[in-house]
Amino acid sequence: MPATLIDGNAIAADIRAEVARQAADLRAKGVTPGLAAVIVGDNAASISYVSMKTKACEEAGIFSETFKLPEDVTHDDVVALIQRLNADDRFHAILPQLPLPKQVDELAVLDTMLPRKDADGLHPHNLGRLLRGELTGAIPCTPHGVVELLLRSGNDPAGKHVVVVGRSTLVGRPLAVLLSNKARGGNATVTICHTGTPDLAVHTREADIVVMAAGRANTLTKDMVKPGVVVIDVGVNRVDAPNRPSGYRLVGDASMDVREVASFVTPYTGGVGPMTVAMLLVNTVKAAARTLD
Ligand code: NAP
Repeated sequence: MPATLIDGNAIAADIRAEVARQAADLRAKGVTPGLAAVIVGDNAASISYVSMKTKACEEAGIFSETFKLPEDVTHDDVVALIQRLNADDRFHAILPQLPLPKQVDELAVLDTMLPRKDADGLHPHNLGRLLRGELTGAIPCTPHGVVELLLRSGNDPAGKHVVVVGRSTLVGRPLAVLLSNKARGGNATVTICHTGTPDLAVHTREADIVVMAAGRANTLTKDMVKPGVVVIDVGVNRVDAPNRPSGYRLVGDASMDVREVASFVTPYTGGVGPMTVAMLLVNTVKAAARTLD
């Protein structure tokens, strides 16, 4: 039987509805949650991600504003903008859309944000708290979205062996920490694989759940997994599609044949992507709520 597709759009819509209720409560108490998105340059994907995020804010009753800087902006000008946003009470959360151009030191920009305004949980203070098992601060949106996707599709990772393919600070490593935490959405046995892993299939074949975050199409194929595996595919990859007006289509890291043996998989679009957006709203509303503490 082919795998069941996990409907990330539907699960994200539930979370966004919960966020909208929390935002309404906060507005009733005189606090309108606010998100400042910072976008540098004309990267089409970044522009489209930010516009999805600000539209979702609007629908959830969250105030948002996008600050657009030119591709050749200096590092100091980006830092100066973040400092202004730190001091601007309209914004409870700041999202510098990554990647930033080469001349801008991405880590220094993240470090400049006040930890309490860190929308994506990537400030070292928040990553450190995550490592300590403290889940009250901002949690990185994509890994948090993956965990919610598992829980809300009936695939609680507790007690399962999860193989995470990818060790980035944005996805793979915070996800491995969340999954191994002694908390809701955790308690899994986690293996992290990367390009230094000699034989990926040795590990993925042992997994109850595989999370792909490699950013390489066809990295996971059906011969690399056991029957009934759950596959969450974070990867977004462009492959040539000459018949399409754009000339390309988006695929994940797992090939389509994995669906012949898996029990659950995320689709290439409408899987993890909408969850990343939903968890950004969660972090923004959490940051706004903390101002009432
Ligand atoms: P990244 O920084 O490039 O990290 C990729 C990781 O995968 C690295 O750790 C790399 O290993 C590992 N890797 C690459 N090829 C591999 C292979 N053949 N076998 C095993 N490991 C391999 O990427 P990222 O920022 O984590 O993002 C990963 C993917 O998720 C990208 O396609 C990105 O577009 C997508 N993404 C999607 C969302 C969403 O909301 N849907 C959000 C964020 C990212 P090394 O460390 O050894 O180089």
